Amino acid sequence: MNSGVKKGQNFRFGFYDISPERRLAAIKRVGFDETMFWWGDEYEDTDGSRFDLFDTATRLGLGVNTCHFPSTHADDLWYDGDRAAEYVKSFDTACRECGERGVKNLVLHLTRKLVTPEINEYGITNFAKMLDSARRNNIVIAIENTRFLRYNDFILERFGRCDANIGFCFDSGHANAYTPNELPLEKYGDMLVTTHIHDNVGPVGEAPDQHHLMGEGIVNFDNVFAGLKRFNVKRINLESYCNPTSRYYGVLSMDEYIERSFATLSKQMDKSGIE
Ligand SMILES: [Zn+2]
Repeated sequence: MNSGVKKGQNFRFGFYDISPERRLAAIKRVGFDETMFWWGDEYEDTDGSRFDLFDTATRLGLGVNTCHFPSTHADDLWYDGDRAAEYVKSFDTACRECGERGVKNLVLHLTRKLVTPEINEYGITNFAKMLDSARRNNIVIAIENTRFLRYNDFILERFGRCDANIGFCFDSGHANAYTPNELPLEKYGDMLVTTHIHDNVGPVGEAPDQHHLMGEGIVNFDNVFAGLKRFNVKRINLESYCNPTSRYYGVLSMDEYIERSFATLSKQMDKSGIE
C-alpha cells in the first residue's frame, strides 16, 4: 500500500536572496507536506539557524521528518583520534537536537566527494558510537547512496540490515551520475526510509550531480518510481534546486519554480500509481 505518501521539498531549492520564511511559505503554499533541512551551520548566512528554520516550518504547517547531517567532514568516520572524536560528538549533538524536535531520519554520507580513506575498523568503532547516539534519541541513520557503494556494503555487513536505527535514503541523482550500473535502490530498497529525488544528465563532465528538477536530465523516473512503489515508499522528497546549471535559472520566479516542482512530482506519482 502506498496511500498517504508524503510529498517533500528540500528547503534549499535556490532563490537565496529571498527570506527563508518566504521560501518556506512558498513550499507550503504549493502543496508540499514536508520540508528537509541541512542540520549544520554552513548556510546560516543565507538561511539563518537550523533551529529558527525548524520553528518557522512547524509554524507554517510543514512537517520535518528528514534532515541532512553535514557531509562536510564525512570522511572523518574512517579516522582515529581527535578528528573522529569530534565527528562522533557532532553527530551525537545533531541526534539530540533532531530527537528533541521529533525529526526521525538523519541522512548520512559515508564518504566525502572523492576523499575515500580505505575501509577500516575505525569506521566500525565510530559508527557504533553514532548508532548508539541514534538509539538514545530515537533517530534513524538514513545512509545515502553516494559515489562508492562499497562503504555502504561494509557498514551493513557489520551492523546488519535489520537494525531499527539504520535505514536507507535513496538518492536518484547520485544513482544516475555515480553508480548507473549498480542499482542502489534494488540493493538497499528493503531498508528505505526516505528519499532525495532529482535529475541530471548522467556520469559526464566535472560536476555531474546537478540536482535538477525531474525531467531536466535523463533519469528514467517511470523506473525509479516503480521501484519506490515496490519498496513501499513513505516520503518522496525533491532535492532539486534552481542552480545556474538549471534550464529554469534566471527564467522562472521562485513561485513559478516551486509550483513546477510540485506539479512535476504530483504528475509522476499519479502516473506511477503512488498516492
Ligand atoms: Zn541527496
